[in-house]
Amino acid sequence: MSYALTEEQQLIQQNAREFATEYVEPAAAEIDHTAAHPADIVKKMIEQDFLGIFLPGEFGGAEAGYLSYTLIIEELSRASGAVAAVLLNHASLAAYSINRWGSAEQKQAYLPSLCQGEKLGAFALNEPGAALGAGEHRVTAVKDGDSYVLSGRKCYVANGGAAGLYIVFAQTDPEAGAKGISAFLVDAKTDGLSVARLIDKMGLRGCQSAELVFDQVKVPAANLLGAEGAGLAIAAEALAAASIAEGAMVVGIAQAAMEDAVKYGKQRIQFRRPIATFPAIQSMLAEMAANIHMLRLAVYDAASLLENGQAFVAEAAMIKLFAARIGQSALIDVIQIEGGYGYSQEMVASRLYRDVKGAVIKNSSLDFPEKIIAGNLLA
Ligand SMILES: Cc1cc2nc3c(=O)[nH]c(=O)nc-3n(C[C@H](O)[C@H](O)[C@H](O)COP(=O)(O)OP(=O)(O)OC[C@H]3O[C@@H](n4cnc5c(N)ncnc54)[C@H](O)[C@@H]3O)c2cc1C
Repeated sequence: MSYALTEEQQLIQQNAREFATEYVEPAAAEIDHTAAHPADIVKKMIEQDFLGIFLPGEFGGAEAGYLSYTLIIEELSRASGAVAAVLLNHASLAAYSINRWGSAEQKQAYLPSLCQGEKLGAFALNEPGAALGAGEHRVTAVKDGDSYVLSGRKCYVANGGAAGLYIVFAQTDPEAGAKGISAFLVDAKTDGLSVARLIDKMGLRGCQSAELVFDQVKVPAANLLGAEGAGLAIAAEALAAASIAEGAMVVGIAQAAMEDAVKYGKQRIQFRRPIATFPAIQSMLAEMAANIHMLRLAVYDAASLLENGQAFVAEAAMIKLFAARIGQSALIDVIQIEGGYGYSQEMVASRLYRDVKGAVIKNSSLDFPEKIIAGNLLA
Protein backbone atom coordinates (compact mmCIF):
# COMPACT_ATOMS: atom_id res chain seq x y z
CA MET A 1 0.00 0.00 0.00
CA SER A 2 1.37 3.43 -0.81
CA TYR A 3 0.31 6.56 1.00
CA ALA A 4 3.18 8.29 -0.75
CA LEU A 5 5.49 6.96 1.93
CA THR A 6 8.97 8.42 1.47
CA GLU A 7 11.91 6.15 0.79
CA GLU A 8 13.02 6.61 4.41
CA GLN A 9 9.57 5.67 5.73
CA GLN A 10 9.49 2.57 3.52
CA LEU A 11 12.91 1.52 4.85
CA ILE A 12 11.75 2.03 8.44
CA GLN A 13 8.61 -0.01 7.72
CA GLN A 14 10.65 -2.82 6.12
CA ASN A 15 13.17 -2.83 8.98
CA ALA A 16 10.36 -2.96 11.56
CA ARG A 17 8.71 -5.86 9.69
CA GLU A 18 11.96 -7.82 9.66
CA PHE A 19 12.56 -7.01 13.34
CA ALA A 20 9.05 -8.18 14.26
CA THR A 21 9.42 -11.39 12.24
CA GLU A 22 12.85 -12.23 13.63
CA TYR A 23 12.52 -11.28 17.30
CA VAL A 24 8.90 -10.59 18.26
CA GLU A 25 6.83 -13.21 16.46
CA PRO A 26 8.73 -16.23 17.90
CA ALA A 27 8.28 -14.85 21.45
CA ALA A 28 4.68 -13.64 21.15
CA ALA A 29 2.84 -16.73 22.45
CA GLU A 30 5.21 -17.03 25.43
CA ILE A 31 4.81 -13.33 26.29
CA ASP A 32 1.03 -13.82 26.20
CA HIS A 33 1.31 -16.93 28.36
CA THR A 34 3.59 -15.52 31.08
CA ALA A 35 2.42 -11.88 30.89
CA ALA A 36 6.02 -10.93 31.75
CA HIS A 37 7.47 -7.58 30.63
CA PRO A 38 9.51 -8.40 27.48
CA ALA A 39 12.80 -6.84 28.67
CA ASP A 40 14.99 -8.63 26.10
CA ILE A 41 12.89 -7.39 23.19
CA VAL A 42 12.86 -3.86 24.62
CA LYS A 43 16.68 -3.99 24.69
CA LYS A 44 16.67 -4.91 21.00
CA MET A 45 14.17 -2.11 20.25
CA ILE A 46 16.56 0.35 21.92
CA GLU A 47 19.33 -0.77 19.53
CA GLN A 48 16.96 0.00 16.62
CA ASP A 49 16.27 3.53 17.96
CA PHE A 50 12.54 2.69 18.23
CA LEU A 51 12.19 4.30 21.67
CA GLY A 52 13.03 7.79 20.46
CA ILE A 53 11.99 7.37 16.84
CA PHE A 54 10.05 10.64 16.50
CA LEU A 55 11.95 12.65 19.13
CA PRO A 56 14.39 15.45 18.24
CA GLY A 57 17.98 14.55 17.39
CA GLU A 58 19.35 17.00 19.97
CA PHE A 59 18.00 14.73 22.73
CA GLY A 60 19.15 11.48 21.12
CA GLY A 61 15.97 10.81 19.12
CA ALA A 62 15.94 9.57 15.52
CA GLU A 63 13.74 12.50 14.40
CA ALA A 64 12.02 10.23 11.86
CA GLY A 65 8.51 11.63 12.41
CA TYR A 66 5.25 10.36 13.90
CA LEU A 67 4.19 8.54 10.73
CA SER A 68 7.37 6.42 10.79
CA TYR A 69 6.62 5.66 14.42
CA THR A 70 3.07 4.47 13.60
CA LEU A 71 4.53 2.24 10.88
CA ILE A 72 6.70 0.59 13.56
CA ILE A 73 3.70 0.19 15.90
CA GLU A 74 1.70 -1.43 13.07
CA GLU A 75 4.50 -3.89 12.25
CA LEU A 76 5.13 -4.81 15.90
CA SER A 77 1.38 -5.30 16.42
CA ARG A 78 1.23 -7.85 13.60
CA ALA A 79 3.52 -9.99 15.75
CA SER A 80 2.57 -8.97 19.31
CA GLY A 81 0.14 -6.32 20.51
CA ALA A 82 1.79 -6.44 23.94
CA VAL A 83 5.23 -5.48 22.61
CA ALA A 84 3.69 -2.69 20.53
CA ALA A 85 1.82 -1.46 23.63
CA VAL A 86 5.07 -1.23 25.64
CA LEU A 87 6.51 1.11 23.00
CA LEU A 88 3.24 3.02 22.57
CA ASN A 89 2.82 3.92 26.25
CA HIS A 90 6.46 4.95 26.48
CA ALA A 91 6.48 7.02 23.30
CA SER A 92 2.98 8.38 22.58
CA LEU A 93 2.14 9.19 26.19
CA ALA A 94 5.27 9.76 28.30
CA ALA A 95 7.90 10.94 25.78
CA TYR A 96 5.38 12.84 23.66
CA SER A 97 4.17 14.83 26.69
CA ILE A 98 7.66 15.85 27.79
CA ASN A 99 8.68 16.82 24.26
CA ARG A 100 5.48 18.84 23.84
CA TRP A 101 5.16 20.56 27.23
CA GLY A 102 8.49 20.12 29.01
CA SER A 103 10.72 23.07 29.86
CA ALA A 104 14.21 23.17 28.28
CA GLU A 105 15.62 21.79 31.56
CA GLN A 106 13.04 18.99 31.76
CA LYS A 107 13.69 17.95 28.15
CA GLN A 108 17.43 17.92 28.78
CA ALA A 109 16.98 15.96 32.00
CA TYR A 110 14.57 13.29 30.73
CA LEU A 111 14.40 12.92 26.94
CA PRO A 112 17.93 11.50 26.42
CA SER A 113 17.30 8.70 28.92
CA LEU A 114 13.89 7.97 27.34
CA CYS A 115 15.43 7.89 23.83
CA GLN A 116 18.32 5.67 24.93
CA GLY A 117 16.02 3.37 26.86
CA GLU A 118 17.72 3.96 30.22
CA LYS A 119 14.23 4.73 31.40
CA LEU A 120 10.92 3.44 30.07
CA GLY A 121 8.08 5.93 30.31
CA ALA A 122 4.53 5.49 31.65
CA PHE A 123 1.43 7.64 32.05
CA ALA A 124 -0.47 7.50 35.35
CA LEU A 125 -3.87 9.11 34.78
CA ASN A 126 -6.60 6.65 35.61
CA GLU A 127 -7.78 6.17 39.21
CA PRO A 128 -10.08 3.69 40.90
CA GLY A 129 -13.56 5.23 40.93
CA ALA A 130 -12.68 8.67 39.52
CA ALA A 131 -14.39 10.37 36.54
CA LEU A 132 -11.28 11.84 34.99
CA GLY A 133 -12.79 14.19 32.43
CA ALA A 134 -14.91 15.64 35.23
CA GLY A 135 -11.79 16.46 37.24
CA GLU A 136 -12.54 14.09 40.09
CA HIS A 137 -8.96 13.08 40.78
CA ARG A 138 -8.31 11.68 44.21
CA VAL A 139 -4.53 11.71 43.88
CA THR A 140 -3.57 15.05 45.35
CA ALA A 141 -0.42 17.14 45.05
CA VAL A 142 0.06 19.61 47.88
CA LYS A 143 2.65 22.37 47.56
CA ASP A 144 5.27 22.26 50.31
CA GLY A 145 8.00 24.88 49.80
CA ASP A 146 9.99 23.87 46.70
CA SER A 147 8.20 20.55 46.40
CA TYR A 148 4.81 18.95 45.89
CA VAL A 149 3.71 15.99 48.00
CA LEU A 150 1.65 13.41 46.09
CA SER A 151 -0.74 11.01 47.80
CA GLY A 152 -3.26 8.47 46.52
CA ARG A 153 -3.58 5.57 44.08
CA LYS A 154 -3.41 5.20 40.32
CA CYS A 155 -4.63 2.10 38.53
CA TYR A 156 -4.13 0.37 35.23
CA VAL A 157 -0.82 2.13 34.54
CA ALA A 158 0.72 0.46 31.48
CA ASN A 159 4.47 -0.24 31.83
CA GLY A 160 3.85 0.12 35.59
CA GLY A 161 6.64 -1.53 37.53
CA ALA A 162 8.89 -1.65 34.44
CA ALA A 163 8.97 2.12 33.93
CA GLY A 164 11.69 4.43 35.23
CA LEU A 165 9.61 7.57 34.82
CA TYR A 166 5.91 8.27 35.37
CA ILE A 167 3.86 11.22 34.23
CA VAL A 168 1.42 11.52 37.10
CA PHE A 169 -1.79 13.55 37.07
CA ALA A 170 -2.86 14.94 40.42
CA GLN A 171 -5.30 17.45 41.85
CA THR A 172 -3.41 20.60 42.89
CA ASP A 173 -6.56 22.64 43.47
CA PRO A 174 -9.53 20.50 44.56
CA GLU A 175 -11.90 23.51 44.40
CA ALA A 176 -11.13 24.05 40.69
CA GLY A 177 -12.27 20.55 39.56
CA ALA A 178 -11.02 19.75 36.05
CA LYS A 179 -9.05 23.00 35.96
CA GLY A 180 -7.20 22.06 39.16
CA ILE A 181 -5.35 19.04 37.77
CA SER A 182 -1.61 19.18 37.10
CA ALA A 183 0.96 16.81 35.60
CA PHE A 184 4.22 15.82 37.31
CA LEU A 185 7.37 13.99 36.25
CA VAL A 186 8.00 11.37 38.91
CA ASP A 187 11.06 9.14 39.01
CA ALA A 188 10.06 5.53 39.74
CA LYS A 189 12.66 5.34 42.51
CA THR A 190 11.19 8.24 44.50
CA ASP A 191 10.56 7.35 48.14
CA GLY A 192 6.93 6.51 48.88
CA LEU A 193 6.09 5.34 45.32
CA SER A 194 5.36 1.63 45.09
CA VAL A 195 3.59 -0.92 42.90
CA ALA A 196 0.65 -2.33 44.87
CA ARG A 197 -0.12 -5.07 42.35
CA LEU A 198 0.01 -6.06 38.71
CA ILE A 199 -3.38 -6.49 37.04
CA ASP A 200 -3.92 -9.86 35.34
CA LYS A 201 -5.43 -8.79 31.99
CA MET A 202 -7.14 -10.88 29.30
CA GLY A 203 -5.05 -9.33 26.50
CA LEU A 204 -1.98 -7.22 25.80
CA ARG A 205 -0.39 -9.37 28.44
CA GLY A 206 3.31 -8.57 28.70
CA CYS A 207 2.58 -4.87 28.64
CA GLN A 208 2.11 -5.00 32.35
CA SER A 209 -0.56 -2.87 34.03
CA ALA A 210 0.04 -1.79 37.58
CA GLU A 211 -1.77 -0.20 40.46
CA LEU A 212 0.55 2.41 41.98
CA VAL A 213 0.53 3.81 45.50
CA PHE A 214 1.75 7.32 46.25
CA ASP A 215 2.45 7.59 49.95
CA GLN A 216 3.59 11.16 50.62
CA VAL A 217 5.77 11.16 47.48
CA LYS A 218 7.89 14.34 47.48
CA VAL A 219 8.51 15.70 43.98
CA PRO A 220 10.57 18.85 43.26
CA ALA A 221 8.38 21.77 42.08
CA ALA A 222 10.66 21.87 39.01
CA ASN A 223 9.04 18.57 37.95
CA LEU A 224 5.66 20.18 37.33
CA LEU A 225 4.95 19.61 33.60
CA GLY A 226 3.47 22.71 31.98
CA ALA A 227 1.55 25.09 34.20
CA GLU A 228 -0.43 24.28 37.35
CA GLY A 229 -3.96 23.36 36.23
CA ALA A 230 -2.86 22.36 32.70
CA GLY A 231 -3.08 18.62 33.47
CA LEU A 232 -6.29 17.76 31.65
CA ALA A 233 -5.31 19.69 28.51
CA ILE A 234 -2.00 17.78 28.48
CA ALA A 235 -3.79 14.46 29.02
CA ALA A 236 -6.37 15.17 26.30
CA GLU A 237 -3.75 15.88 23.61
CA ALA A 238 -1.43 13.05 24.66
CA LEU A 239 -4.39 10.62 24.59
CA ALA A 240 -5.27 11.88 21.10
CA ALA A 241 -1.68 11.27 19.94
CA ALA A 242 -1.92 7.80 21.49
CA SER A 243 -5.25 7.15 19.69
CA ILE A 244 -3.44 7.45 16.36
CA ALA A 245 -0.89 4.84 17.46
CA GLU A 246 -3.69 2.67 18.90
CA GLY A 247 -5.32 2.85 15.45
CA ALA A 248 -2.03 1.54 14.02
CA MET A 249 -2.12 -1.26 16.60
CA VAL A 250 -5.61 -2.25 15.46
CA VAL A 251 -4.47 -2.17 11.81
CA GLY A 252 -1.52 -4.45 12.62
CA ILE A 253 -3.51 -6.91 14.73
CA ALA A 254 -6.43 -7.08 12.25
CA GLN A 255 -4.04 -7.47 9.29
CA ALA A 256 -2.30 -10.42 10.99
CA ALA A 257 -5.69 -11.99 11.75
CA MET A 258 -6.94 -11.50 8.19
CA GLU A 259 -3.81 -13.09 6.73
CA ASP A 260 -4.28 -16.05 9.07
CA ALA A 261 -7.92 -16.40 7.97
CA VAL A 262 -6.95 -16.27 4.27
CA LYS A 263 -4.35 -19.01 4.81
CA TYR A 264 -6.81 -21.13 6.77
CA GLY A 265 -9.63 -20.54 4.28
CA LYS A 266 -7.49 -21.81 1.40
CA GLN A 267 -6.51 -24.97 3.30
CA ARG A 268 -9.75 -25.98 4.99
CA ILE A 269 -11.85 -28.24 2.76
CA GLN A 270 -15.63 -28.57 3.23
CA PHE A 271 -18.05 -29.98 0.65
CA ARG A 272 -14.94 -30.87 -1.40
CA ARG A 273 -13.89 -27.22 -1.78
CA PRO A 274 -11.64 -24.84 0.16
CA ILE A 275 -13.96 -22.77 2.35
CA ALA A 276 -12.36 -19.60 0.90
CA THR A 277 -14.34 -20.27 -2.30
CA PHE A 278 -17.68 -19.78 -0.51
CA PRO A 279 -19.22 -16.32 -1.11
CA ALA A 280 -20.14 -15.95 2.59
CA ILE A 281 -16.46 -16.34 3.60
CA GLN A 282 -15.30 -14.03 0.81
CA SER A 283 -17.75 -11.37 1.86
CA MET A 284 -16.37 -11.38 5.44
CA LEU A 285 -12.80 -11.19 4.09
CA ALA A 286 -13.69 -8.40 1.67
CA GLU A 287 -15.31 -6.30 4.36
CA MET A 288 -12.38 -6.66 6.75
CA ALA A 289 -9.86 -5.88 3.99
CA ALA A 290 -11.75 -2.70 3.08
CA ASN A 291 -12.04 -1.62 6.72
CA ILE A 292 -8.37 -2.27 7.48
CA HIS A 293 -7.35 -0.34 4.36
CA MET A 294 -9.48 2.68 5.34
CA LEU A 295 -8.28 2.66 8.94
CA ARG A 296 -4.66 2.45 7.78
CA LEU A 297 -5.17 5.51 5.53
CA ALA A 298 -6.80 7.41 8.39
CA VAL A 299 -3.87 6.55 10.70
CA TYR A 300 -1.28 7.67 8.14
CA ASP A 301 -3.21 10.89 7.53
CA ALA A 302 -3.58 11.78 11.23
CA ALA A 303 0.07 10.90 11.92
CA SER A 304 1.09 13.23 9.07
CA LEU A 305 -1.09 16.00 10.49
CA LEU A 306 0.53 15.58 13.91
CA GLU A 307 4.08 15.57 12.58
CA ASN A 308 3.40 18.66 10.47
CA GLY A 309 2.13 20.58 13.47
CA GLN A 310 -1.50 20.68 12.24
CA ALA A 311 -4.66 20.05 14.28
CA PHE A 312 -5.20 16.29 14.68
CA VAL A 313 -7.45 15.78 17.71
CA ALA A 314 -10.74 15.34 15.76
CA GLU A 315 -9.06 12.96 13.29
CA ALA A 316 -7.62 10.99 16.22
CA ALA A 317 -11.14 10.68 17.70
CA MET A 318 -12.42 9.41 14.32
CA ILE A 319 -9.70 6.76 14.43
CA LYS A 320 -10.70 5.79 17.98
CA LEU A 321 -14.34 5.43 16.92
CA PHE A 322 -13.68 3.52 13.69
CA ALA A 323 -10.90 1.31 15.10
CA ALA A 324 -13.15 0.12 17.93
CA ARG A 325 -15.81 -0.97 15.45
CA ILE A 326 -13.72 -2.54 12.75
CA GLY A 327 -11.04 -4.10 14.95
CA GLN A 328 -13.47 -6.12 16.96
CA SER A 329 -15.70 -7.07 14.00
CA ALA A 330 -12.66 -8.23 11.99
CA LEU A 331 -11.53 -10.52 14.79
CA ILE A 332 -15.03 -11.94 15.35
CA ASP A 333 -15.22 -12.73 11.62
CA VAL A 334 -11.75 -14.30 11.59
CA ILE A 335 -12.74 -16.63 14.44
CA GLN A 336 -15.95 -17.44 12.53
CA ILE A 337 -13.97 -18.26 9.37
CA GLU A 338 -11.62 -20.49 11.33
CA GLY A 339 -14.56 -22.27 12.97
CA GLY A 340 -13.89 -24.49 15.99
CA TYR A 341 -10.14 -24.22 15.45
CA GLY A 342 -10.35 -20.43 15.50
CA TYR A 343 -11.95 -20.66 18.92
CA SER A 344 -9.12 -22.81 20.26
CA GLN A 345 -5.99 -21.55 21.97
CA GLU A 346 -3.98 -23.43 19.34
CA MET A 347 -4.77 -20.74 16.77
CA VAL A 348 -3.44 -17.21 16.94
CA ALA A 349 -6.91 -15.65 16.50
CA SER A 350 -7.83 -15.98 20.16
CA ARG A 351 -4.77 -13.97 21.29
CA LEU A 352 -5.36 -11.40 18.56
CA TYR A 353 -9.00 -11.06 19.63
CA ARG A 354 -8.02 -10.46 23.26
CA ASP A 355 -5.34 -7.98 22.17
CA VAL A 356 -7.58 -5.99 19.84
CA LYS A 357 -10.14 -5.56 22.61
CA GLY A 358 -7.41 -4.13 24.84
CA ALA A 359 -6.19 -1.83 22.07
CA VAL A 360 -9.62 -0.23 21.76
CA ILE A 361 -10.35 0.08 25.49
CA LYS A 362 -6.96 1.28 26.64
CA ASN A 363 -6.44 4.95 27.30
CA SER A 364 -9.97 5.96 26.40
CA SER A 365 -10.09 9.66 25.71
CA LEU A 366 -11.25 11.97 28.46
CA ASP A 367 -14.42 12.22 26.45
CA PHE A 368 -16.31 9.97 24.06
CA PRO A 369 -14.92 10.17 20.52
CA GLU A 370 -18.39 11.00 19.14
CA LYS A 371 -18.50 14.04 21.44
CA ILE A 372 -15.05 15.24 20.34
CA ILE A 373 -15.92 14.85 16.64
CA ALA A 374 -19.32 16.53 16.94
CA GLY A 375 -17.85 19.29 19.12
CA ASN A 376 -15.32 19.99 16.39
CA LEU A 377 -18.07 20.13 13.73
CA LEU A 378 -20.26 22.44 15.77
CA ALA A 379 -17.51 24.78 17.03
C1 LIG B 1 -4.91 -2.37 28.24
C2 LIG B 1 -5.15 -1.13 29.04
C3 LIG B 1 -4.12 -0.23 29.26
C4 LIG B 1 -4.34 0.92 30.02
N1 LIG B 1 -3.30 1.77 30.24
C5 LIG B 1 -3.46 2.85 31.02
C6 LIG B 1 -2.37 3.73 31.33
O1 LIG B 1 -1.25 3.54 30.87
N2 LIG B 1 -2.61 4.79 32.15
C7 LIG B 1 -3.83 5.04 32.67
O2 LIG B 1 -3.96 6.01 33.40
N3 LIG B 1 -4.89 4.23 32.40
C8 LIG B 1 -4.73 3.14 31.60
N4 LIG B 1 -5.79 2.31 31.33
C9 LIG B 1 -7.07 2.61 31.92
C10 LIG B 1 -8.01 3.14 30.88
O3 LIG B 1 -7.65 4.44 30.55
C11 LIG B 1 -9.41 3.05 31.45
O4 LIG B 1 -9.70 1.68 31.69
C12 LIG B 1 -10.40 3.63 30.48
O5 LIG B 1 -10.20 5.01 30.42
C13 LIG B 1 -11.83 3.34 30.89
O6 LIG B 1 -12.02 3.80 32.20
P1 LIG B 1 -12.66 2.84 33.30
O7 LIG B 1 -11.95 1.52 33.25
O8 LIG B 1 -12.66 3.60 34.59
O9 LIG B 1 -14.12 2.59 32.78
P2 LIG B 1 -15.44 3.45 33.12
O10 LIG B 1 -15.17 4.90 32.86
O11 LIG B 1 -15.92 3.04 34.46
O12 LIG B 1 -16.41 2.92 32.01
C14 LIG B 1 -17.12 1.67 32.13
C15 LIG B 1 -18.20 1.64 31.07
O13 LIG B 1 -19.14 2.70 31.27
C16 LIG B 1 -19.25 3.49 30.13
N5 LIG B 1 -19.45 4.89 30.53
C17 LIG B 1 -18.67 5.63 31.35
N6 LIG B 1 -19.15 6.89 31.45
C18 LIG B 1 -20.28 6.93 30.70
C19 LIG B 1 -21.22 7.95 30.39
N7 LIG B 1 -21.11 9.19 30.87
N8 LIG B 1 -22.24 7.65 29.55
C20 LIG B 1 -22.37 6.40 29.04
N9 LIG B 1 -21.49 5.38 29.29
C21 LIG B 1 -20.47 5.65 30.11
C22 LIG B 1 -17.93 3.31 29.39
O14 LIG B 1 -18.05 3.56 28.00
C23 LIG B 1 -17.64 1.85 29.67
O15 LIG B 1 -18.33 1.04 28.74
C24 LIG B 1 -5.60 1.17 30.57
C25 LIG B 1 -6.65 0.28 30.33
C26 LIG B 1 -6.44 -0.87 29.58
C27 LIG B 1 -7.56 -1.83 29.34
